[in-house]
Amino acid sequence: MTRPVFRFAPSPNGELHLGHAYSAMLNHQLAREAGGRFLLRIEDIDIGRCRREYEDAILRDLAWLGLEWEEPVRRQSDHFEDYAEALDRLIDAGLVYPAFMSRGEIRAFIAGTDDGGASWPRDPDGAAHYPGEDRHLSTAERRARISAGEPYSWRIDMMAAVAHAGAGLSWREEGSGPQEECGLVAADPAAWGDVIVARRDVPTSYHLAVVVDDAIQGITHVVRGRDLFQATAVQRLIQELLGLTPPTYLHHDLILGDDGRKLSKSRRDTAISVLREAGAQPGDIARMVGLRQLTSG
Ligand code: GLU
Repeated sequence: MTRPVFRFAPSPNGELHLGHAYSAMLNHQLAREAGGRFLLRIEDIDIGRCRREYEDAILRDLAWLGLEWEEPVRRQSDHFEDYAEALDRLIDAGLVYPAFMSRGEIRAFIAGTDDGGASWPRDPDGAAHYPGEDRHLSTAERRARISAGEPYSWRIDMMAAVAHAGAGLSWREEGSGPQEECGLVAADPAAWGDVIVARRDVPTSYHLAVVVDDAIQGITHVVRGRDLFQATAVQRLIQELLGLTPPTYLHHDLILGDDGRKLSKSRRDTAISVLREAGAQPGDIARMVGLRQLTSG
């Protein structure tokens, strides 16, 4: 029997806080209980915001918490060619298109619709869907604009991709959320519109890199916060388009601050390093997030 493979995949754009500690420790604990493997992945495709100092601090915090992971750690910025290869397959299949509109142009386009954008579709995170006018450009026009140096990202032609993937796209969810969020969950990627698979500035996007890496690393269980529950629909779609085996998902509750809001990297009081400097021990962190203390072995 193959061993289950879990991963914790932080972005080094700030320090780890209690929410990350919970996610990392939960993955580690589930991997141990299942006799599985625990991997770490540094998700640093956002080269403008990610820093090596944060990566070093993340490794330091996780080691202090008592976590052990396999080496080498996969750093996404070292693997852009893997994402480019996946993108090429989507381009060859005609399921993505070069999207030229800037954020400002998108806003202006939507504001210019009949009702000023009031009924314009929005994704589950509240962002407006991409207008997709350039979905219909001819190959010659695309080439001309690209060779003229116009910036562009690659976006999924969502309708074409959903048709290609076929009916019944779903994922196995092991979280303890409401009933409709457990068991086999129907995926509705169209709710996201034409999502970006490769940004203007980097040759991939979060969704594409996560899907490619989960497959390359043989991840069998994706355990992460509920804030990524809806995003799973897009990731399942991309897996289907690339012919990849989907993992099982478990979206856990988020650790909230005293104000009832999701913790953010800019809030210093729940940073692991700050708690450590104030005298907290790893066992205190485990208690604060409602997990058993880690034991070695
Ligand atoms: N890198 C993402 C984050 O820090 C997590 C992605 C995932 O677990 O799929 O929020």
